[in-house]
Amino acid sequence: MKKQTKAIRTQTGKTKYREHSTPLFLTSSFTFESAEQGKALFEETEPGNIYSRFSNPTVQEFVDKVCMLEDCEDGVATATGMAAVFASMAALLKTGDHILACRALFGSAHQVITQILSKWGITHTYLDADASEADWEAAVQPNTRMIYLETPSNPGLDLVDLAMIGRICKKHNIIFNVDNCFASPALQTPADFGADLVLHSATKFMDGQGRVLGGVVVGKKEYIKELRFFCRQTGPSMSPFNAWVLSKSLETLNLRMEKHSSNALQLAQALEKHPDVKQVKYPFLESHPQHELAKSQMKAGGAVVTIELEGGFERVAAFMDALEIASLSSNLGDTRTIVTNPNTTTHAKLKPEEKKALGITPGLIRISVGLEDIEDLIEDFTQAVEVSVKSDILE
Ligand SMILES: *Cc1c(COP(=O)(O)O)cnc(C)c1O
Repeated sequence: MKKQTKAIRTQTGKTKYREHSTPLFLTSSFTFESAEQGKALFEETEPGNIYSRFSNPTVQEFVDKVCMLEDCEDGVATATGMAAVFASMAALLKTGDHILACRALFGSAHQVITQILSKWGITHTYLDADASEADWEAAVQPNTRMIYLETPSNPGLDLVDLAMIGRICKKHNIIFNVDNCFASPALQTPADFGADLVLHSATKFMDGQGRVLGGVVVGKKEYIKELRFFCRQTGPSMSPFNAWVLSKSLETLNLRMEKHSSNALQLAQALEKHPDVKQVKYPFLESHPQHELAKSQMKAGGAVVTIELEGGFERVAAFMDALEIASLSSNLGDTRTIVTNPNTTTHAKLKPEEKKALGITPGLIRISVGLEDIEDLIEDFTQAVEVSVKSDILE
């Protein structure tokens, strides 16, 4: 069976009620049919559910689907994307280890590496997204245990060559860990380029409808075994309710990502032609500096487009306030188009030099293109650009 069929047909076994939609096991614990069975379950001589911090059938259904979509052997689900990021590092790194990362990271991932892991003597080096294979090679230290990156990055939409990092990790026996949130497995499967671990904020495109928080890490069995132990003992488990919502959403992930990508490309093309938009960035626009790489590792460009307007925050504010359809929010990955000014919100806490390195300028606007009719979106963005030009800010 093809992935799309499996995404729809993978389901927890039917209960005696013969339900068609997948059941929701909203229970904190499971009963033992005998004292003997309780003993066997804890001794792990008999497989089965004990307590939903350890495992739950609804959560497992979600994990099974993500493993299937990401071409990975095993996985664990977590309460949020950040719990997935943290668990993937904390479970596998120890004092004295070094983590090599691409600088263009989600803000909280950056904080985990610089402020939390550092307290335990785990050191790091950041490289720019456009670093060459030689640059990455030169940054590998004898104690480098993990390479961590996001591609495309948030909000810069910079790409990292997955096959290149796969080669370096294999050569030096380093764990290759990828946050695949922006592309989703519908558009990019890092394990096929050598990634050992692939993680997600399921809050974004996996839910895709702005309802629940969730995270997941999938990958090689040997690493997931350590993550499972870490999560079972420290407790960042996913709620069965959220898993039920997310598992249903995975049935439409492929369809949604195709439509997000075609809407995003059309909006990017329309705005690129507009004389009052200074710059448009989108991986599947020919003007993207890594367009060829994008085509080689992604099936389509995804939902996120960035634009740059001249004139600083006042111009940005005039534009954002003039939008009639798009929402102003810091989230992304929703059916509803969302617009964010990273400089004053999601990335406001970064130091000026960090902002510069990530291309976060006052006029940068991140658009998470939704599933509304594309003609309505183009009209809304065009009129908002025009309102912002007419406002006297530029004079
Ligand atoms: C949102 C996000 C996260 C964090 O996920 P939460 O579910 O909010 O904890 C991590 N990585 C990327 C790329 C994200 O966009």
